[in-house]
Amino acid sequence: MEKIRTLRGFRDIFGEELDKFRRIESVFRKYSGLLGFREVELPVLEKTELFVRSIGDTTDIVEKEMFTFTDVGGDSLTMRPEATAGMVRSYLQEGLYATERMTKVSSIGPMFRHERPQKGRYREFHQIDVEVFGVKEALVDAELIFMIRMILDELGVGRYRIEVNSVGCKTCRESFRRVLIAYFETRKDQLCEDCLRRLERNPLRIFDCKNEQCIRVTGDSPLLFDSLCGECRDHFGLFQGHLRGFGIDVEINKRLVRGLDYYTKTVFEVTSDDLGAQKAFIAGGRYDNLVEEMGGPATAGIGFAIGVERLAMLVPSSVEKDGKRCFLACVGDRAKGYLVPFLKACVAAGITLKYAYDAKSLKAQMRYADNLKCDFVLILGDDEIGKGVITLRNMTDKSQRELPLDPKKAVEELGALA
Ligand SMILES: [Zn+2]
Ligand SMILES: [Zn+2]
Repeated sequence: MEKIRTLRGFRDIFGEELDKFRRIESVFRKYSGLLGFREVELPVLEKTELFVRSIGDTTDIVEKEMFTFTDVGGDSLTMRPEATAGMVRSYLQEGLYATERMTKVSSIGPMFRHERPQKGRYREFHQIDVEVFGVKEALVDAELIFMIRMILDELGVGRYRIEVNSVGCKTCRESFRRVLIAYFETRKDQLCEDCLRRLERNPLRIFDCKNEQCIRVTGDSPLLFDSLCGECRDHFGLFQGHLRGFGIDVEINKRLVRGLDYYTKTVFEVTSDDLGAQKAFIAGGRYDNLVEEMGGPATAGIGFAIGVERLAMLVPSSVEKDGKRCFLACVGDRAKGYLVPFLKACVAAGITLKYAYDAKSLKAQMRYADNLKCDFVLILGDDEIGKGVITLRNMTDKSQRELPLDPKKAVEELGALA
């Protein structure tokens, strides 16, 4: 019979990669805790409308990449392609704007995008997401960058760059839009079909185009950063000042626009040359209008997401070795009766005990213990039982000695070694 395999772009995660995922999560939780974030778990499945309204209907995500389907009741549902939309929905649904001066929340989980699978990019991928609601001050923008720095340093990620930009507010974007349309109108013949459509609906999106020729056209275009309104310029200046306060160097990349419509003012990306063509593994920014656009009161917002798969590619393998491995080899039916008491004593003492469920000959069990790279083997047969002892063999130096047969006492001595 043909074996059933995972869907294209979906996969199993285990072994060293999963160890890295867990390490990333634990380092993240340490710093998110220190900086006052509280973790939430949100649904993977939401109404399609949530993403269309928040992410924007002209974005690549909404136009091409969502896992959307109609359920039996006829509702259009979507597997979340990113976390912010759900976080905003939850913030509004739980009424946090009314009860909290400001809200710092984080979440960890899978996201889904129907992209062409490629190295390090999957249709199911994992993100760590951070959002702050109700803080317009640029100090929090810098604090998030500081948090990222602490996490990456502790994980031992060596080479990365933090790029920042400001994409302005409605005021500066409206005037810039006119400048931009005027520029691209005279170069229409050099734009791809997608970009011609973007020119009609959302010319800023043209900067996201991966088409070589479009990239060349945008290369000489005027930049939003150079026509920021006074308020946005001041905000960016304060942001930079706070970054200096934290002692963090960033690069200003005036061409950085995030692929989502909702961003305002500060946007940032953390990139690494070790990741190939798609260099970014952390990205985020401010979205001061989104909460209001989603039906809430005017509330500033800012957040970022870490691509866990991509970050894991940059995290060095752990040098930490786990505790010593112990094995119990039982020979004969009487000895097998000791397996459960020894297992209970080991678990209570926090020692991992391995053993063969089908305990056959001593030779076979020793070979198995060797395969499992066990450091110590407890050997129990009729001889030992007669003497009231259990043999402890050190697999490294091959030395042997006897421990009392009483599981608690034996495990206590073993614990001193393991
Ligand atoms: Zn502005
Ligand atoms: Zn294009």
